[in-house]
Amino acid sequence: MTPVLEISGLRKTYRSRKGVRNALDGFDMVVEAGQVHGFLGPNGSGKTTTLRTLLGLIKPNGGRMAILGREVPQHLPEVAGQVGAIVESPQFFGNFSAELTLSLLADAGGVNRSRVPAVLDQVGLRDRSKERVKTYSLGMKQRLAVASALLKEPKLLILDEPANGLDPGGIREMRTLMRDLSDSGMTVLLSSHILGEIQLICDSVTIISAGRRVTSGSVAEVLAQHTSGAVRVRLE
Ligand code: ATP
Repeated sequence: MTPVLEISGLRKTYRSRKGVRNALDGFDMVVEAGQVHGFLGPNGSGKTTTLRTLLGLIKPNGGRMAILGREVPQHLPEVAGQVGAIVESPQFFGNFSAELTLSLLADAGGVNRSRVPAVLDQVGLRDRSKERVKTYSLGMKQRLAVASALLKEPKLLILDEPANGLDPGGIREMRTLMRDLSDSGMTVLLSSHILGEIQLICDSVTIISAGRRVTSGSVAEVLAQHTSGAVRVRLE
């Protein structure tokens, strides 16, 4: 089966007054369909650069990326509809309800508003959907962000550090949501610098360090490598 995501030899160099920085130095990653795949690496290892490159927000200096077998960026317009992403902390108007927020986002994205109740159900916010977003916990705001990415019914959902700042209860809710999405056939790519989060939420994982893939496999395999010292990456 064609992987949902394939990245090979990806390179990105930043040039600034401080000099040249190889943020991605021949990075490889494969994400198979139906997985909740963790993208784990220390701060500054290249996760955000990878995700932004994948979404066409940054131009790479080399390498290949394909989503559902289609090369990015050449096929970006076609694959864009298949990918939902949250790569920056979303800002919502606190005085709007979740329902209104999603309805306006549906309008802006050319999605029928009839999708909104289903999406609210998917993220477990239906009961609170008429309340103002400013009354929501951080975890609920994160789930609203996921809901906004689900409006287009993506095949691949990309989340950059979605558990950031969440308490253990919020992380457990995020895990349940990721499991439900994966059971419904969606593939999820979730970046984090915290091993414990990946361990709780994901099926498989790729570890990145200094812009290169260190290892990848099932969470159990990679954890065993990390515990035995075979993988030497400093992780929280
Ligand atoms: P974090 O979890 O801290 O966001 P990350 O794994 O997402 O880290 P990136 O943000 O992709 O890592 O950064 C990779 C490297 O590229 C870092 O050394 C960073 O300092 C550098 N970098 C990122 N963006 C720029 C930029 N716009 N200009 C120069 N260097 C950059």
